[in-house]
Amino acid sequence: MVKTLLDGFENFRKEYFSENSVLFQKLVRKGQSPKIMVVCCSDSRVDPAILFGLKPGDLFVIRNVANLIPPYRSDDQFHGVSAALEFGVKDLAVSDIVVLGHAFCGGISALCKRVINENKNEHNTEKKDGDRDFINKWVDIAKPALTEINFDDWPGSSQHEAERKAILNSVMNLKTFPWIKTAIKSKKLRVHGWWFDMKNGALWGNEESSNKFVKLVPGAV
Ligand SMILES: [Zn+2]
Repeated sequence: MVKTLLDGFENFRKEYFSENSVLFQKLVRKGQSPKIMVVCCSDSRVDPAILFGLKPGDLFVIRNVANLIPPYRSDDQFHGVSAALEFGVKDLAVSDIVVLGHAFCGGISALCKRVINENKNEHNTEKKDGDRDFINKWVDIAKPALTEINFDDWPGSSQHEAERKAILNSVMNLKTFPWIKTAIKSKKLRVHGWWFDMKNGALWGNEESSNKFVKLVPGAV
């Protein structure tokens, strides 16, 4: 299977790398200075550089299961997401952070199923997920966001509602980082919650004034 990667790289080297040699040499000489940070899911269907048509050096990206941001916690644990946020905000001084969620997110779906079972006082999935050392604890970051969701139509619109509420929860958690809070206050940084509908090819964003998701780019269903 890795042959696919090697063939792809050969193609990249012959075409993209040679066509953009000036850009790559500039990025080597001057280093990176992206102005936008995106926090998106590890999901193979959601690639921010492809979605937004960007070049190397344009985007600082954090990817994890379900595009989650844990709340700020300064302790001796390993904080990969927080370290990347710290570098993006303090060193790169990005002007915008976009939390990019998406439709049909497996991580959010797994959390929803667990919440639904807990609401029914059934714990069957706990047994099934017993061999997962990390995923349940990780997606629990978004659990507080799901308390008011009515899951009667599961997995209909409530799945998408959960995905969007999880995005807002991550945006809220972003603001628990003291240096992010300060940068927002001094208008050096803006944070956004966006949701990619991969079924219809639509991009939605949270409108701060109404706290509702509105379509950011016209055209899709
Ligand atoms: Zn996902």
